[in-house]
Amino acid sequence: AKAMGGGRSMRYLPKMRADAVQRLEIETELLTALETDQLRLSYQPIMSANPHTLMGFEALIRWHHPVKGLIPPDEFIPHAEQSHLIFAIGDKTIGQACAQLAEWRRLAPNYPVTISVNLSARQLLDQNLVEMVDRHIQRHDVAPGSLKLELTETSIIANPAYAAAQISALRKRGIPVVIDDFGTGYSSFNHLADYEVDGLKIDKKFIYDLGKSRLSGAIVKALMSLAHSLELDVVAEGVETDEVAAELGREGKAALQGWLFAPALPAEQATQYLLSEARG
Ligand code: C2E
Ligand code: CA
Ligand code: CA
Ligand code: CA
Repeated sequence: AKAMGGGRSMRYLPKMRADAVQRLEIETELLTALETDQLRLSYQPIMSANPHTLMGFEALIRWHHPVKGLIPPDEFIPHAEQSHLIFAIGDKTIGQACAQLAEWRRLAPNYPVTISVNLSARQLLDQNLVEMVDRHIQRHDVAPGSLKLELTETSIIANPAYAAAQISALRKRGIPVVIDDFGTGYSSFNHLADYEVDGLKIDKKFIYDLGKSRLSGAIVKALMSLAHSLELDVVAEGVETDEVAAELGREGKAALQGWLFAPALPAEQATQYLLSEARG
C-alpha cells in the first residue's frame, strides 16, 4: 500500500474522519440504547469453595441491539468511556443491580446473595460516584455488603490518591471493593499494600490452563497464599472444567466463577438459578 506514493497523509486523514464518524454513530446509538432499555445486566454465578454453593453473581452488561443482536461489553464500554455516556451507563447499571437485589430478597428471603458490579477507570474517578451508589442503595433498601464493586488495577493507577479516597469512602458505607483481573497489572503487589480492599479476583488467563501450565499453577498458588495472609477473599474467574475446580480446591479457599457452573445469565434465568439453589 505504501507504493501508492504520497498516500500517507492522504489516507490518514480520511481514516481519522471515518473513525470520528463511527464514534459519533456508536455514541448516538448508545444513547438510544440507554433510553430504550437495550442495555441490561446478565448475571454469572459465583460459587463458594467447598462445597460449591451459590454465593452471588457478577453483573455483566449486555447490549441487546434490535438489529445487530447481542453486543458484548468489550465492543461498546471502551467507546462509552471516551464520552460522558459511561456515567449514564454506570448509573443505570448500579440502579439495575440494586433493583435486582431487592427482587431476589423478596423471592428468596432465606438465601441472601451478593451482586458484584464492574466499574471502569472513569467511573472510579467520578466525584459523583459515592453519592450515586448511595442513592440507589437507599432507594432499594439494599442490605449492607450485598452490593460489591469490582475495580481494575489500571483504574487505580490513573489517579492513585483519588482512587484510594473513593475506595475508602465506599468501604465506609459498607460496600465491599475487590480488585479485578488481579495479576495482569504491572504493580499488583504495591496496590495490595497501599489500598484497603476486601478481595481480589484472579484473572482467567491464569485459571484456564491451571494443571496444564506449570507457570500458571505457580502464579495462582502465590496469589492465593498472598491473599490468605492478607485476609482477602479470592475469586477465581474462568473456571471451565472440573479439573481446574479440583486443582483450585487443593490450593486453598477460592470462590469459583466460570462456564463450569454457568455463563452470564439473563435476569430471569439467574432468578431460576437462585431459586433452585435456595430450594437446596
Ligand atoms: P471481566 O470483569 O473480567 O468479566 C469476566 C469476563 O469473562 C466476562 O466477559 C465473562 O462473560 C467471561 N467469562 C466468564 N466465565 C468464563 C469462562 O469460564 N471462560 C471464559 N473464557 N470466559 C468467561 P464479558 O461479559 O464479555 O465482559 C467483558 C468485560 O467487560 C468484563 O471483564 C468487564 O471488564 C467489562 N464489563 C462488563 N460489564 C460491565 C459493566 O457493567 N460496566 C463496566 N464498566 N464494565 C463492564
Ligand atoms: Ca469483573
Ligand atoms: Ca475479571
Ligand atoms: Ca477484564
